[in-house]
Amino acid sequence: MRSDFKPRRIVVAGGGTAGWMAAAAIAHTMGDAIDLTLVESDAIGTVGVGEATIPPLVLFNRLIGISEADFMRETQATFKLGIEFENWKRDGEKYFHSFGNTGRDHWSAGFQHFWAEGRERGHTVSYDEYCLELVAAYAKKFAHLPENGLNYAYHLNATAYAAYLRRIAEQAGAKRVEGKIGKVDIDGETGNIAAIGLEDGTRLEGDLFVDCTGFRALLIEGALHVGYDDWSHYLPCDSAIAVQTELAGPPVPYTRAIAHDAGWQWRIPLQHRGGNGIVYCSRYLSQDAAHDRLMSTLDGKPISEPRAIPFTTGARRKQWHRNCIAIGLSSGFLEPLESTSIHLIQRAVIRLLRMMPAGDVSERDIAEFNDQQLTDMIQVRDFLILHYKATERRDSPFWRQCATMDIPDSLTQKIELFRETGRVFRKNEELFVENSWIQVMLGQGIMPRAFHPVAKKMTDEELAHFLQTLREKVARTVANLPDHHAYVAQYCGAK
Ligand code: FAD
Repeated sequence: MRSDFKPRRIVVAGGGTAGWMAAAAIAHTMGDAIDLTLVESDAIGTVGVGEATIPPLVLFNRLIGISEADFMRETQATFKLGIEFENWKRDGEKYFHSFGNTGRDHWSAGFQHFWAEGRERGHTVSYDEYCLELVAAYAKKFAHLPENGLNYAYHLNATAYAAYLRRIAEQAGAKRVEGKIGKVDIDGETGNIAAIGLEDGTRLEGDLFVDCTGFRALLIEGALHVGYDDWSHYLPCDSAIAVQTELAGPPVPYTRAIAHDAGWQWRIPLQHRGGNGIVYCSRYLSQDAAHDRLMSTLDGKPISEPRAIPFTTGARRKQWHRNCIAIGLSSGFLEPLESTSIHLIQRAVIRLLRMMPAGDVSERDIAEFNDQQLTDMIQVRDFLILHYKATERRDSPFWRQCATMDIPDSLTQKIELFRETGRVFRKNEELFVENSWIQVMLGQGIMPRAFHPVAKKMTDEELAHFLQTLREKVARTVANLPDHHAYVAQYCGAK
């Protein structure tokens, strides 16, 4: 390090998944070019949920030097190939949103156009059967294939993941302080946070503060009062109850999201236990009724006390304000329907690293960060709204409200474009790619009225050969994959 360089002092407030992801990535990347302290309170603890992830976490772990097998052993992780949505379109029907691509696109038109042309010419094979991840998930199979052959994520124990990240952060030089934050000192001249005061009298001064205090948002809201945009008019669920269970059978490589008359339930299989929870709208379901529904529909025996977690869907108006950056639940909340929260933490941490101030914080960095963060959250929000809006359910006041609610214009454009033309376009590097939108729109019952004419130029033989070759390749690959459960056990030495 340059002899005249004074490392900037970064204080991370909070040691949940967000705090330790931030600390591990910053310490691993910046080394002694920064002086990093994380404060967390054992008495307060963490939110204790957040077990289903999406594929970019594989990259995050690689970036901070994690050995996958080691990580999976420590966090009792399983592989995840997508999410099964039950009862969303109609009670009793289901579809699958996989992490894979379906079929093979032509540069002028996505695979769905060729599949639809096939349907018109009498091919009855479902869109699903052309997707390797989807077919592998239902066959309960998994392996690492060459050239990223299967796109996957993990189900993990969030508490164990935070502990694992803590070791990485501390090995890379991060200091941990245990204690309860009692006050936040603001510099009267600049309006910046000058220090965090703990209840035991310890004062932690810093140049940059990362607020990872969860829903409490002690710094960004408690001290800096940036405000919150409430999005519950689009996503009316406002409560959850979580409980862990014994496994009822070998863990499957996918999450289950099962809709009920006022929300939905999740099932997340780890190596040794299941994560379960119910998400609901308190206007239509009481906490007692939600608790009873959750407990009476569990697959395995409960092994933890059920935990109620109220929430308000929305986003902090500024996620970076002055010298404070909110990451994790302190920055806003979107229900875990598409397992996106840990991913949004990852995006914010990487973004912060890319915009790490060299000296004073730049207002341009702040504006850029806030714009990019909000764009990410709005894109995820709109994808979630799709699941509620595009429903044929009218069996309860909750679903009738969802079906008739106003939605953002950009989402209306996406849905109606698909309905009229079969086309989907990914905008501004949004997280969910075309195939995600197509799987969910088809699954929710939106069948396009027209498709791209390019597929019409294929002869019957060409089209049949094209479709059959793709489907056979998927079937052949899956037939040769090992069982997911056995693979996990062998890969990370799970018992
Ligand atoms: P927390 O875990 O709440 O951590 C806050 C930290 O701040 C703790 O260390 C706490 O001790 C500390 N703290 C708070 N106040 C003080 C104080 N006064 N002094 C000192 N320290 C303090 N995400 C996914 O990606 N996938 C999922 O499947 C998923 N499921 C979810 C289900 C539910 C019901 C909910 C509510 C969330 C879910 N999430 C999911 C989101 C995920 O749980 C969070 O994004 C993730 O756990 C990060 O939380 P956090 O670190 O921001 O907050």
